[in-house]
Amino acid sequence: MTLHISPIHAFQDNYIWCLYSGKHGVVVDPGDAKPVLAFFKEHGLTLSDILLTHHHWDHTNGLPELVAAFSNVKVWGPHSDKIHGIDCVLGEGDMVSLPSIACDFSVIEVPGHTLDHIAYYGSAGLFCGDTLFSAGCGRLFEGSPAQMEHSLAKLRALPPATNVFCTHEYTLANLKFATTVEPLNTDLLEYQRWAIAQREQHKPTLPSTLAKELAVNPFLRCQQPPVMTAVNQHWNTQQAGEHSVFAGLRRWKDQF
Ligand code: ZN
Ligand code: FE
Repeated sequence: MTLHISPIHAFQDNYIWCLYSGKHGVVVDPGDAKPVLAFFKEHGLTLSDILLTHHHWDHTNGLPELVAAFSNVKVWGPHSDKIHGIDCVLGEGDMVSLPSIACDFSVIEVPGHTLDHIAYYGSAGLFCGDTLFSAGCGRLFEGSPAQMEHSLAKLRALPPATNVFCTHEYTLANLKFATTVEPLNTDLLEYQRWAIAQREQHKPTLPSTLAKELAVNPFLRCQQPPVMTAVNQHWNTQQAGEHSVFAGLRRWKDQF
């Protein structure tokens, strides 16, 4: 049976990704139960599993209502004392097997945005929560720049054809910053034109692909001379190492 992956809109700009096949569905980061229940009703689906990437409320608040609405829902998530109701606690390299939709994932620990943050990677794609966004990355609420850069390096090493399912529609705002950093990156400018057209038609810019992000996302391009130069000029520094470029880029974006 075919696997479908659809975004369910929540709040201002959250996407709750729904993977479904036949009559069964799985959701990633359900911050709100209502739109999920409506989608499942509309498509005649039964919820079998919930995957969580990190503890923030806009990714977890729908949990109690969804677990109550369906029987035998399995909840997967990270080691975290801030999330209640996880059945299967996951760490680096653990496997998630979802027989209801014939889908498997492996777990990648990606601390930075939060310390408990994990990502799910499998043939269906990469579900990276608030770690990697299209043309951007998550804010460092809990982790250090070095931690986040190490986490992004793990994601960057995945196959370029990987579909990237981010949990927020932040692309246009991220592109404003990215084009300030790399005004001459033609892939980036072309992508920005496409993204503006998508949003004008109220269509998501996601999923992205890793290949696309490697070409346009400044946070994955800290070793590229134009990005290094832009960061050093912005902060008026002469940093050579990749780590300090990433830290400078993240700090620049925070104030942008
Ligand atoms: Zn978050
Ligand atoms: Fe979020």
